Amino acid sequence: MNVYLDYQSAKPVDPRVIEAMQPYFHEQFGNPSSLHMTGDQATRVLNQCRQKIADFIQAERDEIIFTSGATESNNQALIGLALRNREKGNHIIISEIEHISIHNIAKFLERNGFTVSKVPVDQYGQVNPDKLQQRITEKTILVSIGHANNEIGTIQPVREIGEICQQKNIVFHSDAVAAEGLIPLHVKRDHIDLMTLSSNDIYGPRGLGVLYKRKGVSLNPLIIGGGQENGLRSGSENMPTIVGMAKAVDIMQKQMPGEVEKLKKFRDRLIKGVLEKIPQSYLNGHQIKRLPNNAHFRFEGIEGEALLLSLKDKGIDVATGSACSSKTLEPSHTLISLGLLHEEAHGSLELTCGRFNQEEDIKTLLKELPGVVAKLRQLSPLYQQEDQS
Ligand code: PMP
Repeated sequence: MNVYLDYQSAKPVDPRVIEAMQPYFHEQFGNPSSLHMTGDQATRVLNQCRQKIADFIQAERDEIIFTSGATESNNQALIGLALRNREKGNHIIISEIEHISIHNIAKFLERNGFTVSKVPVDQYGQVNPDKLQQRITEKTILVSIGHANNEIGTIQPVREIGEICQQKNIVFHSDAVAAEGLIPLHVKRDHIDLMTLSSNDIYGPRGLGVLYKRKGVSLNPLIIGGGQENGLRSGSENMPTIVGMAKAVDIMQKQMPGEVEKLKKFRDRLIKGVLEKIPQSYLNGHQIKRLPNNAHFRFEGIEGEALLLSLKDKGIDVATGSACSSKTLEPSHTLISLGLLHEEAHGSLELTCGRFNQEEDIKTLLKELPGVVAKLRQLSPLYQQEDQS
């Protein structure tokens, strides 16, 4: 078996989730829109699942909209809000380190008459709420800042940003995909109006996402049809995946505190071990305001891709950055925004732990990585050993 340390890019579906989904493919196949008994049963299950997921983020049942995934939720939030509020204003604020889907949606909106400001982050990847506030104009209709960064794991001061948006009467969207199941989410306390969630990120099936929409916020729908999801997202509900996500939430609610403790232990051992064992290695992201499962490093004088492939040969799966951007040769926009040079950003390694990791996985990584880095450095014309004198 491979050692898998890339939980940020994909998670295995929890076997208990698969079991809970099974009946909804055949025995309980009803469509909640049908008025007969089979349809009624499906409606009851749909309501229960919606309630379960709402409770997970301290929302209300009818504030949960099911989508096909986080990418769709982000599209629905940003484009739906922008189209609805065109008359009010055309200015949107995001941060420089948002997920690529948010950046590309922002580009689409720019091509369609909106203006987008990108707030910089500090060297640890945090947005400064004051700097964000300075960018607000009377045309600002939306602020979109991710709860935590999917690459470097830095957690944002979401509540402070939410308070600013509330005072200024601006809608606040937060993509919480990287944070869900790792830190508690509380839409009311944090003044979040729109929030993106994904099923797979809490060990549920792929192909299902959620958009939380606070009551009172209006969006234009992007998917038009039979009017499901309160007219905001048409199409027959994907019941097996909805049941799966609700089960994933149920499991997460029960075991999150213990799981987070375990992940923190693994993360801290990885950070300590790597920084101690490998000279000229550095931690990217924030030391404290950091997701409990994320360890992200930069090594002088090596290429992240070469590191990934060498570890792959040893049966260890790691990432150099977001899987969603892995097809481009450009360095990660997140790392560049921290102030790293291109060659520094290229020498990065992202390790993300999850539910099914064992102590052994951490030990194996710490045993293999120093040798791999040393070997790559020997071959690298870029590498200059630190002067020890
Ligand atoms: N937002 C964040 C923060 C992500 O990490 C991802 C990728 N897992 C997405 C959105 C897009 O998710 P998906 O590809 O499942 O639509």
